[in-house]
Amino acid sequence: MPHIEQLAPHVADLIAAGEVVERPASVVKELVENAIDAGSSAVVVEIRRGGMGMIRVTDNGCGIAPGELPTAFLRHATSKMRTADDLGKIGTLGFRGEALAAISAVSRVDILTRRKGADCGASLHLEGGVPGQVEEAGAPEGTAITVRDLFYNTPARLKFMRKDSAETAAVAGLMQHLALSHPDVSFKFIKDGAESLHTPGDGKLESAVYAALGRDFARGLVSVEGRGGYIAVSGFVTAPLMGRGSRSMQVFFVNGRFIKSQLLTAALEEGYRNQIMKGKFPGCVLSVTLPVTAVDVNVHPAKTQVKFAREREVFDAVYHTVLDCLDAKGAPAAASKPVERVVNPRQDFFQSMDAKTYREQGAKNTEKAAEKPPVRPAAPARPAWDTEWKSSARVADSQPQRPLSFRPLEKPAGAAFGKPPASVAERREAPPVREAPVEKEAPAKPEAPKRPFVPAIPADQQKLDLPGQTTIEPPKEAPWRIAGEVLHTYIICESADGCVWLIDKHAAHERVNFDRLKAAKEPPMRQTLLQPIAAELSREDGALLLENLDLLEQFGFACEDFGDGAILVREVPADIDAGDAVSTLEEFAENLRSGKSLEEKRENLLHTMACKAAIKGGWTSDISELKVLVEKVQSGEVRYCPHGRPVAVKLTKYELEKMFKRA
Ligand code: ADP
Ligand code: MG
Repeated sequence: MPHIEQLAPHVADLIAAGEVVERPASVVKELVENAIDAGSSAVVVEIRRGGMGMIRVTDNGCGIAPGELPTAFLRHATSKMRTADDLGKIGTLGFRGEALAAISAVSRVDILTRRKGADCGASLHLEGGVPGQVEEAGAPEGTAITVRDLFYNTPARLKFMRKDSAETAAVAGLMQHLALSHPDVSFKFIKDGAESLHTPGDGKLESAVYAALGRDFARGLVSVEGRGGYIAVSGFVTAPLMGRGSRSMQVFFVNGRFIKSQLLTAALEEGYRNQIMKGKFPGCVLSVTLPVTAVDVNVHPAKTQVKFAREREVFDAVYHTVLDCLDAKGAPAAASKPVERVVNPRQDFFQSMDAKTYREQGAKNTEKAAEKPPVRPAAPARPAWDTEWKSSARVADSQPQRPLSFRPLEKPAGAAFGKPPASVAERREAPPVREAPVEKEAPAKPEAPKRPFVPAIPADQQKLDLPGQTTIEPPKEAPWRIAGEVLHTYIICESADGCVWLIDKHAAHERVNFDRLKAAKEPPMRQTLLQPIAAELSREDGALLLENLDLLEQFGFACEDFGDGAILVREVPADIDAGDAVSTLEEFAENLRSGKSLEEKRENLLHTMACKAAIKGGWTSDISELKVLVEKVQSGEVRYCPHGRPVAVKLTKYELEKMFKRA
């Protein structure tokens, strides 16, 4: 057996430091909290290389007396607590007396400080926690702490540091939370020399929200205020129609401290029940204030979690405040909104070809058409004249005796962008619709306007069946019949064996997409956006996505860092509407967060893709689309949606007769 020995103090300190100082953002958090505790009205945070190069926090607070400077860097040295009793009523952000000790143990620190009203300031340099001499120095009132070479003496920790961009994003996210929790303090955040956040510190939460979370988010907010007994709740929540794709814009403060709390999230979301669209989450900046004796903040080293003495009361206070304010403001409930008629904006319902085949085919076609411009690998699947294309498709729908085909525009709107590649036109040519039995059921309107019809592809090439292309066609003589569609969501269908089926068209399509995406060996085909989208996500989501750009590529998204947590989206999967790109990315971030293994993350991403690419309940669908889905359900290929919910409900004749007391 090896001997048992007490660790050398500096080793023990390094271990303890690891609990407090995990990454640059934890250093910033501790230093800024100290600045706030010191009564500062203005705090400037500067970082370089995500904080690994340098972190400097400057405040105009009370300062530290020269004689107490070395003490402040000792473990368990604090001015905020004296007795064990004090632990039960903590009103300051710091109280453990560990931060300065921990930070200085794993870096090189310079501190310059002057007490309010003192004639002269003092400076001190520490290396690996070992202090030098305190020296007299000229300084403005307040304190400036500079941290360099973080983790220089703990290589194991250094190895685990993520990319600078991820660390910068983490600090930026933290700065948002700090700024929001203290609207009375003016915060300035400078990263690599550029100012990225500046709040006025005018004491108004709305000013801080506007400066920290952006105009778009601030615009969709409803103010809330309420009180339940000794618990006060105030702040802003998103209007129900402005739901977000993830929970990352839920910001909670308890007694001025940013915390993560499932209890508060649950209470907030309960307040939105039946008011917000499924799959959307409310955002908020909510402050809960309660007596310091009713909350324990000493349950987590990073102090981002709390324990409430009476959880039920806190839940009720938040829930009722949110619910009452949403009701009082007459926020329109999503459920009561008249169903909008949305036609499937995508034209790729029937075809699915993997990107490899598409590219190969595109290349072949290019060879054939000598003068045509070459096809880029990630050629835009949706042509520039998208809108016009849709309208031409509709014309074809209303003249069912005609094959649905591409009609080039006399004056293409996207002329400036060159001709679409031939293969795109071919792909768009959608042969199955040509044969869809719908044509027999919906008689042609004789008065339908006659439009010039020019097939894009010569007649002899129209039968061209592309290898690898799956063309889903409804059977010629199906043992079932569609009786109709109700609520723009459920297909009613009768099968030859005398059963009535109700089929959820979104769920069924989601399953079809999921199976297709899962089986695909190539990444989905992409479309290049004419105008890249700058997705303003939360810092947390932005950072997570930036860390996973490769994975996003595999799912058909070409994105890049746009600074300040924003992401520039240049290409999206062809299956997904460009308008859904941001919400898809928000959900992706949630998928990445919740997935434990890479496999699980991939699976989650597939779910999101399948859902986003599916026709939605509420959309007006073409009967031929519905037929494809019914066929999949009737053949038994599709039974459950990827989340395991049933796709269809079946009623036998006998069951119906029983309901009507016939049997
Ligand atoms: P804690 O904040 O838990 O008390 P710290 O290690 O963070 O412990 O700080 C130790 C002490 O140093 C504080 O209690 C405070 O008195 C003093 N101090 C730290 N930072 C500042 C600052 N920016 N301005 C004034 N005093 C400070
Ligand atoms: Mg502290």
